[in-house]
Amino acid sequence: MSDLFSDEQITNPVSGADSGQGGSVSGHAMAVLVPYPVDKAYDYLIPEGLSVEAGDYVLVPLGRREVVGVVWGEAAGDVSSAKLKSVIMAYDLPSMGKVQRDFIAWLAKYCMSPLGFVLKMSLSAPGAFEAPALAKGYKKTDIKSSKLTAQQGRVLEALQDGLPRRASEIAEIADVSAGVVKGLLSKGLVEQVDIYNPAPCRKPDPYRERAQLSESQQMAADRLCEMVEHKAYHCALLDGVTGAGKTEVYFEALATALKKGRQVLILLPEIALSNAFLERFQARFGCAPALWHSNLSKGARSNTWRGVAKGDTKVVIGARSALFLPFSDLGLIVIDEEHEQAYKQEDGVIYHARDMAVVRAHMGQIPITLVSATPSLETMNNVWEGKYEHLSLLDRYGGARMPEVSAIDMRREKLDARHFLSLALRDEMEKTLERGEQVLLFLNRRGYAPLTLCRHCGHKYECPRCTAWLVEHKRGGALQCHHCGFSMRPPEKCMECGEVDTLVACGPGVERVFEEAKEYFPEARVMLLASDTAEHPDELKKMLKTIREGEVDIIIGTQIIAKGHHFPNLTLVGVVDADLGLQGGELRASERVYQLLHQVAGRAGRAEKKGRVLLQSFMPDHRIMQALCESGHGAGRDAFLEVEASEREMAHMPPFSRLAGIIVSGRDNGQTLEVAKALGKTAPQAEGLHTLGPAPAPYARLRGKFRYRLLVQADKGINLQKTLAHWVGGVKVPSTVRVYIDIDPQSFF
Ligand code: ADP
Ligand code: ZN
Repeated sequence: MSDLFSDEQITNPVSGADSGQGGSVSGHAMAVLVPYPVDKAYDYLIPEGLSVEAGDYVLVPLGRREVVGVVWGEAAGDVSSAKLKSVIMAYDLPSMGKVQRDFIAWLAKYCMSPLGFVLKMSLSAPGAFEAPALAKGYKKTDIKSSKLTAQQGRVLEALQDGLPRRASEIAEIADVSAGVVKGLLSKGLVEQVDIYNPAPCRKPDPYRERAQLSESQQMAADRLCEMVEHKAYHCALLDGVTGAGKTEVYFEALATALKKGRQVLILLPEIALSNAFLERFQARFGCAPALWHSNLSKGARSNTWRGVAKGDTKVVIGARSALFLPFSDLGLIVIDEEHEQAYKQEDGVIYHARDMAVVRAHMGQIPITLVSATPSLETMNNVWEGKYEHLSLLDRYGGARMPEVSAIDMRREKLDARHFLSLALRDEMEKTLERGEQVLLFLNRRGYAPLTLCRHCGHKYECPRCTAWLVEHKRGGALQCHHCGFSMRPPEKCMECGEVDTLVACGPGVERVFEEAKEYFPEARVMLLASDTAEHPDELKKMLKTIREGEVDIIIGTQIIAKGHHFPNLTLVGVVDADLGLQGGELRASERVYQLLHQVAGRAGRAEKKGRVLLQSFMPDHRIMQALCESGHGAGRDAFLEVEASEREMAHMPPFSRLAGIIVSGRDNGQTLEVAKALGKTAPQAEGLHTLGPAPAPYARLRGKFRYRLLVQADKGINLQKTLAHWVGGVKVPSTVRVYIDIDPQSFF
């Protein structure tokens, strides 16, 4: 990601036709960008009497529709004004700032996405452009009454200032149920009025009481606060094991930004947007943060979008798309779990939210903090090169110890093909349960078994639409494809040879480990936790609560359990297959497995009790297992990252070079292959540039489409985007075939 910093790219973002000044002459034309896959802003006439500037939101005709667009700058003048259509109206909203417009333009160019497509991400709250919805509010009337209960008295006191409030708000201030408010309504002491739904998170209180920070926390916090005070671009990595108190530290930086009246954006991987985090924020700042993710209601979306644009909403916690909200005065960005792959958006506009957030911070001249217990190699490399400041918290807060990690050599275990828990792990489980403590068995694989085959003819059950085995799910009674959702009942006879009762399950999924745990520990209370067993967030919340309250002895879980949760009585973590994910040789495979296992290991012994982690592995000498076993944080991890870095450097791979993936996909194999071959034949030849492929993608068929890949590897000095645009633009692509460009690819499937 260091390559984003070539000065040329940062200081010369191509900002379409934006002059940045914006004339407000009426009766002439201006360029308006619409949220569609268009490469440039189109000219529109500005009707007499309407005055608009660059950044203003306007309604314009587009084909037969009317769409919301953004005035992008002076007219290009490439269409005669007689042919131009007129802007219909301008919205009474704060205009989109120049930084945001420059950011959109820069990102479009960097990610090679149509400009309007990137704008669309900033306008993803259609309701924001309609009249805001009204809510019911209550205010005091002039009627007096002497016969009031204490509760009623408190309500009237809460409404003393004469301003209308919603029932829920009043109930909270007066500490009564909403029913009390309604009671006063029937007495005529309060009346109902229409009010606008207020923007969320308007008044977080930075001055509330907070925890006493440890010395190392205080030092890191001071640095971050200084950065916020300074109002300039600066990137710091906040590094420390899970439980080190990183959140507590960046909350301090947040408080500083709030004291200055500025806005804060905290990005989290979607999966980590948990209630626990929101409650913690609420406890610290006295109000809930504004949330932003793909599952919000239309009302909540438009409310937050407006609140952010007007500057009323102070703190947004969101998934990657929150980066495109139109902040009016952003003063700090925090990227928690910066190493997470979830920050990469793999469809639509293909971008990496962490990297783009750094660019956004740079353009807006504000500080940004990347937070992780297992920083990505890209980020560490930027630290090593002195581009990012390194703030390290060395220990767990309050002296809670790191768990002791050891590997179990599965080559020595004589397990039959239906069992997956080693003797050593079972022994340790038994001891843990006897002490009344909890065990987590981690396996990042949903379902019962990853492969089903026929014992008689050897036929393996594969998805008809994808290059992938069907995964047996006993609970759903189906064979499922984890890529496209294809599902079928397990056949009674083999579909290939017709023999009855010959299908066997191969390998473990969490459902199977669940069965095995029950077999060994029939008395234990066992719970299975995977995204398909706890589909609804409320359900997950309930299950997590059951665990915290000690009503579960053994938890079998996928990565859904790996993140952020804190179970004080959990002291043993068994990783059923520590090698999972290392096969296949993807660029970041080791790094990812290390990060995930480190995170899982962090579930053990977070309170006073010491934790143990056992890794079942067929390669216990692998440097990942070694690094994890070097207890604690510093030495093992950094040695691992350094070896990883030197291997990448030797292979001339990122962060020491740049990559771009080209994916060619289509329903017709012949046509798709033809395009892929044409790209291969015309691949750019230059020093410091290599093209690999085309080759069938690892998932050569996905959702019924055939897929081929090319990979471009380039020296950092090369203008990759320009080279790619020229090359890919020169190949004829029929409408049935799609070519995707993935800059800085994270996955290679
Ligand atoms: P991290 O974000 O590094 O995983 P957290 O900030 O979540 O760590 O802290 C871990 C636990 O320790 C939390 O329960 C938090 O409330 C507590 N904690 C952290 N710092 C302090 C402190 N200075 N005083 C009291 N409790 C703290
Ligand atoms: Zn499929």
